[in-house]
Amino acid sequence: MAAEMPASLKEAQEVLASWLAESRSAVVFTGAGISTESGIPDFRGPNGIWKTQDPAKFHFERYLDDPDMRRNSWRAYVSGGMGAQAEPNPAHEAVAKLVQYGIVRWVITQNVDGLHARSGVPEERLLELHGSSRFAKCIACWQRFTRDETITWPIEEPAGVPLCPRCGGLMKPGGVSFGEPMPERETAEAVRVSRLADLCLVVGSTLTVYPAASMPAYTVEQGGRLAILNIGETTLDRFADLRVEAKAAEFLPRVAELVLAARGLG
Ligand code: ZN
Repeated sequence: MAAEMPASLKEAQEVLASWLAESRSAVVFTGAGISTESGIPDFRGPNGIWKTQDPAKFHFERYLDDPDMRRNSWRAYVSGGMGAQAEPNPAHEAVAKLVQYGIVRWVITQNVDGLHARSGVPEERLLELHGSSRFAKCIACWQRFTRDETITWPIEEPAGVPLCPRCGGLMKPGGVSFGEPMPERETAEAVRVSRLADLCLVVGSTLTVYPAASMPAYTVEQGGRLAILNIGETTLDRFADLRVEAKAAEFLPRVAELVLAARGLG
């Protein structure tokens, strides 16, 4: 690592590590900020996607109505847009390690880049609230198919996308668009585990997109601790027991080391 961490950040690493070490049901909640170090632009930051792109262009109703939009969206998915070619960074790896050692029980993410799964978070510990570019789905019967399978499927015209082999419905890349229903199982499960959590660590989210952003609030409501690691303000800053401004990829690896050492696993 290039620069030495300031004393205040080292102290924050120690505090967070001790809370994680004593937790029994910790949850990590992540947003775009954890993936910026993997080269994926965020949405709301200074160079965010919404500075140059109109969110209305990505609305679910547009997808239903406009074959050109579907074609473009499917091509972006096939060519590896949305993170399919990015690599997990040290922040993803630190989180994965904490999950693998049973310290963090669940990872809830707003990201569709699939990098938590790629870094080794097991499927049963991962809740991708906004879907994932690791799969595509039929928007008639909602059946999911893996990315590896679907990228070979031919585009059917005039649909502009492949058709579902099960029901003939339109296929759509797995990320959830504006105006599209949230995945039910993931949302219900995220609410459940957030309420159970004795600690929620937020990484790289401004907590402005609902209902995803309410998950850490459920932990606070039930008396759990809230730690927020994000560059810039978040909507829950005033409820945070620990608030850290630092790059996740520089901050978290040391935290994971300290936790594993404290539990005698390092
Ligand atoms: Zn279908």
